[in-house]
Amino acid sequence: MIPRSQNRVWKFAAQLLFLQKNPEEQADILGSREYAIPSLPLHLFNLFQAFMEDPLIESTLQALQKNKFNAYLAESPQKANRIFFEKILPTLQVRTYTWGDSMTMRATGVLEELGKQSDKVPILTFDASFSQTQKIYWRKQALLADLFLTGTNALTQKGQLVNLDMIGNRIGGINFGPENVVIFVGINKIVPDIEAAMNRIRTIAAPKNAARHSGFHTPCIKTGTCMDCQSPDRICNSWLITEKSYPKGRISVILIKQELGL
Ligand code: SF4
Repeated sequence: MIPRSQNRVWKFAAQLLFLQKNPEEQADILGSREYAIPSLPLHLFNLFQAFMEDPLIESTLQALQKNKFNAYLAESPQKANRIFFEKILPTLQVRTYTWGDSMTMRATGVLEELGKQSDKVPILTFDASFSQTQKIYWRKQALLADLFLTGTNALTQKGQLVNLDMIGNRIGGINFGPENVVIFVGINKIVPDIEAAMNRIRTIAAPKNAARHSGFHTPCIKTGTCMDCQSPDRICNSWLITEKSYPKGRISVILIKQELGL
């Protein structure tokens, strides 16, 4: 446990680290480019990052546990895969499973491995052959699954999950319905607080996510920055802030010690 007196120091240093890693957010947060934190030489930054990361990760894991999430730390997506199959899945009763799209979750390979387990039935919601009506039908069915796998757009140092969704099926699954939820998240998603989380999602994750959807026409795909659009393809419609897991342990979070996802 980190003493309270040291927490302020870690918090300040973590904010510096966060801003250093996200220079495009410095001006938004600090108000002016004139006050932006100067870039550190790369080797100094790497040293600083290595020095900072472990206490930051440790305190974030503690915060998750305090918020009644099951929290795990993995060194890599492959290790996250093993934690899922060896520590989490055996404790659950899973006949049906489904997922909300997440690059981080996909990087672990859990879907491929689950697909080989004949006693478990996937509820597919992304099949390219589905009509829009079928997609909506199966996304509703997915809320009845035993297990829901996905990522999170941001994770605060206070152990809160922050997500922004287009249709609502991903945040719906995190919030209520599936018996159990497993979230895979890279350390690049750790932010100081909810304000920083929402800022990161609006300015970085959402425009990059929009660009991943072929056939979508949003202004951020051209500009690379959020224009708070009115497009019918707008992917930013509903926020979810998960302060705590309810019931306790319903949501497991595997924090992966790498930069993953958007
Ligand atoms: S609100 Fe519109 S412009 Fe902004 S990130 Fe979302 S889709 Fe892009």
